[in-house]
Amino acid sequence: MSSIEHIQKEFEEAVEKVRKSLSSESIQTLKVKYLGKKGKISGLMRSMGSISPEERPVFGKAINKLRDLANDSLQNIQDLLQHQEIEKSTSYSSLDPSLPGHRIPTGAIHPLNRVKEDIFSFFTGLGFEIERGREIETDWYNFEALNIPPEHPARDMQDTFYIDDKVVLRTQTSNNQIHVMESRKPPLRIIAPGFVYRADSDASHAPMFQQVEGLVVDKDISFAQLKGTLYIWVRHMFGFDVKLRFRPSFFPFTEPSAEMDVSCSLCKGKGCRVCSQTGWLEIGGCGCVDPNVFQKAGIDAEEYTGFAFGFGIDRITMIKYGIPEIGLLTANDNRFLRQF
Ligand SMILES: [Zn+2]
Repeated sequence: MSSIEHIQKEFEEAVEKVRKSLSSESIQTLKVKYLGKKGKISGLMRSMGSISPEERPVFGKAINKLRDLANDSLQNIQDLLQHQEIEKSTSYSSLDPSLPGHRIPTGAIHPLNRVKEDIFSFFTGLGFEIERGREIETDWYNFEALNIPPEHPARDMQDTFYIDDKVVLRTQTSNNQIHVMESRKPPLRIIAPGFVYRADSDASHAPMFQQVEGLVVDKDISFAQLKGTLYIWVRHMFGFDVKLRFRPSFFPFTEPSAEMDVSCSLCKGKGCRVCSQTGWLEIGGCGCVDPNVFQKAGIDAEEYTGFAFGFGIDRITMIKYGIPEIGLLTANDNRFLRQF
């Protein structure tokens, strides 16, 4: 019996020591030393055989009691260690785990991209393909092939960014028309979206803005089909009660040409500040492809006809959402962007 008492005393001292410098290793070592297969308490169990049968029940009971005590003590310091670790991980003065977390700001689709995606899905639904072209373009594709001769005012240094005499930042996405017509045979139905550049900047003009252009080339294409296509698009974009108006105009690459207006969505055509009291907002230009353009792109103008249209994505977005300044679209101001 004295050996049981001796081991118990020794164990209790060891537990106290471990308690003072708590670590999972020291707890494990203690466990192995006393309760492991070759541990001291297990050793006492094995020595039962050498005890006289009369003493055995008392001896056995005492060993069981010691083993339970050892298990409890080890569990106890194990809990203590775990508690200390939790305390340590949350006790930095700057950290208050009871505070709510920071909300991670989520993005939203930019209104320009929203309108662009809408245009893409609408026209691809009509069987148009999307063609992106180059933004740095030669004089030929940006001007000459589009029937804009060297003396044309659009070529003025005031209006165009020149890289050198023969290379410009494209002033419209129509350069794609020529590339597509040169490389593919009609029938063609494309839309060409992208950035275009003008040396111009005020409340409604930016030096870089986005355009989308449409081109259809086939046999028997007429202005009536152009009007029909744009009418369903305008209703899709601005709603069923919108009106579309064509005004005769001039563009070097179309003949006849027209400018397109939609009825002002703010005043419903009555006249307001946004539409300069006219009741109409201009959204872009259009027309039938000029035979000179066909000829320069190598398409037989006797056999094929076509129409083209172009509008500013920025302008459409401003009209659709009632945005008064074009600069807001690129200002990267979250207070503005969060409204969409
Ligand atoms: Zn108006």
